[in-house]
Amino acid sequence: MPLIIVTGLPTSGKTTRARQLYDYLSARLGTQQAQQQQQQQQTPSPSPNPNSNPKPPYRLHFISDSTLSISRTVYDLSPAALPAHVRSANASEKDARAAVYGAVKRVLSPRDIVVLDGLNYIKGWRYQLYCEAKNVRTPSCVLQIGAGVERARAVNEARLSARGKRAREEKEDGPSRVSKEEDGKNENAPQQQEQQQTQPQKIEEGASSHSQKANDHSGDDRDNIDDDEEPYEPSNWENLVFRYEEPNPMTRWDSPLFTLIWEDDEAQTRAVFDKIWDAVAGEGRKVVKPNQ
Ligand code: ADP
Ligand code: MG
Repeated sequence: MPLIIVTGLPTSGKTTRARQLYDYLSARLGTQQAQQQQQQQQTPSPSPNPNSNPKPPYRLHFISDSTLSISRTVYDLSPAALPAHVRSANASEKDARAAVYGAVKRVLSPRDIVVLDGLNYIKGWRYQLYCEAKNVRTPSCVLQIGAGVERARAVNEARLSARGKRAREEKEDGPSRVSKEEDGKNENAPQQQEQQQTQPQKIEEGASSHSQKANDHSGDDRDNIDDDEEPYEPSNWENLVFRYEEPNPMTRWDSPLFTLIWEDDEAQTRAVFDKIWDAVAGEGRKVVKPNQ
């Protein structure tokens, strides 16, 4: 499909949900492919019909700032972070959006499902993505991640203090005393701890579908997903919350709109993912015509 635009406040759990969605879709595509193969084997046709054109399998893609190595600082408009001329032109964020747009455009097609993880907080930007999907005759939808401002801020603050702690440890130990490998472990430790404490359950298809390798059907961008998430500078974070433009399901470009909140458990998450599947690859998928 289909383009799935993930949106939400900074550090509200977008990447967590986007990864769960990717894993869910990956498993479902595996199941679908296995079923199709089984059907083909069960109904052997002696003279293959040249007009029957089986649909090629979907490919799955994951695109985010992380996979494109876009830094948090591109969103930073605070005076301390940038000189005035850069701030007014807002160039780095525009460049970042151009990079994301290019990455989406390269892969998007009616048989390519793109999970676009990111802030995606500007409605004009979501409109642009919606138009791009329409151009290639594929549906798009928005998955909004809801988390209270206080909770999201606490996640960023935890990351800021973990970063501060790492910096202090490095200073005390001195980089020369720590081997590169150990250094990597130390760097990850606070985040792993944070993730262990708060990681929500993983949503998966049944074990049987999971035995299907993802590369049966996907472009396998999953390997590019970076686990080390940097915090936002506090002023950058507050500013992004202030600038956030909530999706509106009454508009074409924000619909269909699906929502997951922080507290949603595995069953609820799965129910929402089922609906997304239906909208992008199942019965509910609409035929998209450009210029409509
Ligand atoms: P974002 O991509 O919006 O910056 P992340 O997905 O990186 O946010 O999540 C930030 C932190 O919050 C991570 O440590 C993650 O494990 C945790 N987290 C995210 N969503 C949930 C949730 N629904 N329940 C519990 N912890 C969560
Ligand atoms: Mg993220």
